[in-house]
Amino acid sequence: MNSIPPGSTIGILGGGQLGRMTALAAAAMGYRCHIFCPEKDAPASQVADATTLADYQDRDALVRFAGQVQVVTYEFENIPHAPVAELDRLVPVRPSPGVLQICQDRVREKEFLNGIGIPTAPWRRVIDAPTLDAALHEVGVPAVLKTARLGYDGKGQVTVRAGAQSAALWASFAPGMPPPAEAVLERFVQFERECSVIVARGLDGKHANYVTVENRHEHHILAQTIAPARIPFATARRAEGMARHIAEKLGVVGVLAVEMFVGQDGELMVNELAPRPHNSGHWTIDACITSQFEQVVRAICGLPLGNSRRHSDAIMDNLLGDAIERWPELLKDPDAKLHLYGKAEAKAGRKMGHVTRLIPRKDEIANEK
Ligand code: AMP
Repeated sequence: MNSIPPGSTIGILGGGQLGRMTALAAAAMGYRCHIFCPEKDAPASQVADATTLADYQDRDALVRFAGQVQVVTYEFENIPHAPVAELDRLVPVRPSPGVLQICQDRVREKEFLNGIGIPTAPWRRVIDAPTLDAALHEVGVPAVLKTARLGYDGKGQVTVRAGAQSAALWASFAPGMPPPAEAVLERFVQFERECSVIVARGLDGKHANYVTVENRHEHHILAQTIAPARIPFATARRAEGMARHIAEKLGVVGVLAVEMFVGQDGELMVNELAPRPHNSGHWTIDACITSQFEQVVRAICGLPLGNSRRHSDAIMDNLLGDAIERWPELLKDPDAKLHLYGKAEAKAGRKMGHVTRLIPRKDEIANEK
């Protein structure tokens, strides 16, 4: 296996907090990072060796970038696929552009998942008012209409209730979408909990997954992650098996986050995939032997994966918008691990940082007795 040794430079497409925390983990392992993003003074640029400030479509800038890095990864899915595929011809992009293409499009993603036997909420592809009308009949209400591409944190989605008129609904929804207008209508799931599993997969095909965690959202944005999820042992192991199966079938080299709904009877439905470190894995920095960020560095550089076992349970709270002003008070708790992302402006709902609190593992306490 050809590994990319410490001392090499990792290229990261995207300059947000996920890139920042990846660059910090990379630095700890002796790598340099070169960020490619259109924003000045991005959170990742602040801690990286170099930045190319350019648009993701800027072919010349991408070619120059490719000449300066030994491997490329991305820290968000909403990057145009074509330039990433071109980049991959010059330098390895991991996870591959094919993985990115599936995970950045809800139609492709759900087709892929159902095709490998993974359950999702019942859904239909929608491209105009008549297909929306047919989908409403087949899927039923309440339902959620979501743009196929470029949606995140609840943006580009609307809940559809009984009595909705498809023509009017489509006329108000479609203009917000980048062309070609394409969406999915999926049944509203009365879930018991929302969970996620993060799995790392190395260049050698080996896996290392984290324990299933529980996620609480506010206004569609992740507010809190509880590790491990408060669900039955068997359900959690099933969720982890599912995540490993998806990573294997996708051929991910890197980390993959699998978001799921857990029904009242323990039934699991996958909501979304993210082929990158995920907000619901930030707790791994403080509570696991190897964080999700270190795993992505190890995986894309062809190194053996680290142990993803947790030494502590954890609760991670996101600091959204003005909540960052609580930092002095948070620091008064000596057990709170505060992470701030270096963002200047605290817009409402913006992820400004997070705080992780460690809790001794209950099963280990039991073992000690
Ligand atoms: P998404 O952008 O698909 O991750 O959706 C953001 C959040 O909206 C999810 O984490 C859920 O809290 C909620 N949501 C999305 N789809 C559904 C659904 N089909 N049923 C119930 N809640 C949903």
